[in-house]
This record gives sequence, structure tokens and C-alpha cells, in this order.
Amino acid sequence: MFALFYSICTNTKSALCRQAKIWMTRCCGSCPRKKMAHLSQTAQQLWAFPETVQMKFEKDGVKITWRKSMEKEKKAEVRLSPSSMITMETCARQFWYKSLRIKPKEKDRKMLLGTIRHLGFEHTLRTDQPAACADARLTEKETQSINAELLVFYDWWMESGLTPAYIHQTPAIELKIESRHPDDPSIILVTRMDLLAVDEDDEYWLIDWKSGKTKATQCFADHADQLTFMQIIAEDVLQEASIDKIDHLAIVESHPPSAQKNAAVNMIPSPRRGAAQVEDLLSKTRVIADRIRNQEFFATSRYGFNSPCNLCEYQSLCANSKDTAGFHIPPGINIPTGLFEEVS
Ligand code: SF4
Repeated sequence: MFALFYSICTNTKSALCRQAKIWMTRCCGSCPRKKMAHLSQTAQQLWAFPETVQMKFEKDGVKITWRKSMEKEKKAEVRLSPSSMITMETCARQFWYKSLRIKPKEKDRKMLLGTIRHLGFEHTLRTDQPAACADARLTEKETQSINAELLVFYDWWMESGLTPAYIHQTPAIELKIESRHPDDPSIILVTRMDLLAVDEDDEYWLIDWKSGKTKATQCFADHADQLTFMQIIAEDVLQEASIDKIDHLAIVESHPPSAQKNAAVNMIPSPRRGAAQVEDLLSKTRVIADRIRNQEFFATSRYGFNSPCNLCEYQSLCANSKDTAGFHIPPGINIPTGLFEEVS
């Protein structure tokens, strides 16, 4: 079948496959017709791609090596963070709204409290001083509750025996880091590291904050994708700073005071992730990146009594794309058709 599709250069016995439009052996460039510049753009891309398969065959006494790229075209870059991964796994349609930068006008209360809490923690880590919040957006009760947590956090930090690690003269607090996927460089893994700290034995701790009423368990700390994700990126970045590896992972959770209990801060250590967990997460990132490239943004309704879904702040827009009152929508954005809309 190849006879139909190739022409042979008598000079070098290399051949141009007309179907795949690639040179079967590298062109000598000695005649103008066969210079790389004369190949189509696709052929040049294929030629430049290092991952190739080779096939050898003989035609009319001429030995031909046929080389073909494993990849037909370069993939679009996809940036993935732990939160975008979770959103894609929870509901790809919600990810779609976020990727279109459609935002609810009213900021989620839990997110607002979380941001303020993080700022207080950051202040304590940078200054070794307790933080106090006086944010006009909070009610008096919320302010008292956050301040109680910030005070307990300060006590925990001063007794922890940890100090922030430094990467290129910068304390590793709320540090944005990123690295390319080791098996697919078109995927860029990004995260904001809450804290990388070093203990009295010179061991490194990668720590993530968690807050809320639900208590984190040891099982959660040992399996949380977020920590695995951060370990993968951090270890890649830390090599430049001559730090070999992360020794420990941990969730530090903060609980607001309740009628029965005072505010509390609690650290749940977890061993560094092993090869199987790392490989599992890296495989998942490839699947999710492909789903994003293929625009597979289906709504993820639930089984049983949880369907139809009302799980997120996009609920009204998700039902009807014309119900835009509660959202900031960038100009020129085509809103995905609502699930309960008639499409003509
Ligand atoms: S309302 Fe439900 S289906 Fe719609 S985007 Fe939110 S989580 Fe997804």
C-alpha cells in the first residue's frame, strides 16, 4: 500500500510519504525541493516530534525506513490545580462556568470566612504575633468566632517547633508553585502551598489548612488528593532549592468555638505519599486534562434523593441560562444552555 503514497529521492534514497506528508528518512537538504521548508507545517511538526515509531520495508530494491510520530498534533496546554481537579470530579458543568469566568455576585460566606482565616494564619506565620480581624463584612458573632480561632492558632504555632522553610530567600508561606506533568508536559500542575516548614530535626513538612465544622480524619489526611498534588509539585520545585524531598505531610484543622467547646487547632500528620499514590494521581490528571480539552462539561447530577442537583451556587444559571441576575458575566461570553431550557 505504501507504493501509492511515497516518492523516492534518488539522491539519498529517502522518501516522502504523500499520505502522512513526512520524510521517511531525514532529508539531506541537497536539492531545494526536499528541504524541510518545502514540507507542510504538519509534516514539519511531525518531523520535529521526538516520539516516533519506525517501520522498515523494501520497495524495488530500495530500503525505506518509515517514521511516524506517535502524536498527531501538539496538545493544547491545560493548567490544573487541586481545586480545578475537585471541581471537574464533582461537577464538570460547574468547572465550565468557572472557566468562562462567570461568577456569582454574592460571595459564598464560607469562602469569605476561609479567606479571612487564611490571612490571619499568614500574619502569625510571618510575624510570630497573634492576628486579630476587624472586617466590616463580618457580623459581630463571626468576628468573635474567627478571633478565637486565630488566638488558638497562634498558641499552636508557637508550640509546634516548626519554622517556615525558605525557597530562594522567600519564606514558603502561601507560595504559588507550578510544575509540568512528568509524563505529559502539556499539563501544568499549579498550586498555592499553605506552608512548607522545617522542624527541629531538619525535616520538611508540607502543611495544608482546613477549617469548618466537619472533623478531618486520619484516613482523609492519608488519602487527600490535595496533599499528593502538592507533594508532586513541591518536590519538583524544591530540587532547585537543594531540598531533596518532603519528609511529612499534614493537615492542620481549625474549629470555631461552639456552645459546648472552645475553638481548637489540631494537626494530623501523614506520611509522604508513595509511588503508587503519586502514579494514581498523575494518571487522573491526564484523564481530566483530556476531558477539558474535549470540552466534556456535562452536569453531574446525583443518584437517589440528590437529583436534580442543587449542589452549587450556579444552580439557577444551570437550570436556565437567561437567569443571569445573580452573576457577573464577562462581555462576549456564550452562556451554556440551561438544563431545563427548551432548545429550538
Ligand atoms: S447546580 Fe449542580 S449540575 Fe449545575 S453546575 Fe452546580 S453542581 Fe453542577
